[in-house]
Amino acid sequence: MRSKLVVGNWKMHGSLAANSELLKGLLAGIARAGSVDVAVCAPFPYLAQLQAMLAATPLRWGAQSLSEHASGAYTGEVSAAMLGDFGCRFVIVGHSERRTLYCETDATVAAKFVAAKAAGLIPILCVGETLAQRDAGETLRVVRSQLDAVIAVAGADCFAGAVVAYEPVWAIGTGRTATPAQAQEVHAAIRARIAEADAAVAPVLQILYGGSVKASSAGELFAQQDIDGGLVGGASLVADEFLAICQAANR
Ligand code: PEP
Repeated sequence: MRSKLVVGNWKMHGSLAANSELLKGLLAGIARAGSVDVAVCAPFPYLAQLQAMLAATPLRWGAQSLSEHASGAYTGEVSAAMLGDFGCRFVIVGHSERRTLYCETDATVAAKFVAAKAAGLIPILCVGETLAQRDAGETLRVVRSQLDAVIAVAGADCFAGAVVAYEPVWAIGTGRTATPAQAQEVHAAIRARIAEADAAVAPVLQILYGGSVKASSAGELFAQQDIDGGLVGGASLVADEFLAICQAANR
């Protein structure tokens, strides 16, 4: 039996004051999440605030990206060890916005995944197809190739201590959610691909769904056999909505 995990991706939103209010709201209602693990991933400058406010609480936290390099002349970059200094447990790797807007290739994503694991962080590897790829019937091929790129670099057993998030690009920030059946089909294919690489890790790997998850859609999505929680963008910025999503995972 896999435990459920719900992760908020704040993207480039927030301020010290707004984060403080949001975190207080989450902490006031976190009991609603029951046994569900809950985390928020914030912009780098706010990681110290998360560490200060969440260290003694059930809420975990993480970052939204990292450098593939351990240290050196990489102006503007942040290493995995630096994230560790601020108590991060998770780091999102390969979000579609990073792949599209910042030209992160499968190779870069794989290197970041390796760097995260080497520093003891849990990478949340995002995979997913564009609408054109879905319409062309290429969804499973695309997702498989994104997984293969990481396995080729990080090894067959690399998903031990990692999380995968299936995020159809057409569903991120659009208000359009994959149907539970569409999501389940891809989640099952992801688990099957991981099982080919490592039969032991596949049954315990947490595979999250992301893409316009709302409290109203979360219950049915999270009830699917291979959906182990969510990666939540916009709805994670509203305490009550995010808590209701966490509560939906607690069933
Ligand atoms: C995301 O940021 O990963 C995401 C899924 O965003 P949203 O929930 O807003 O679609």
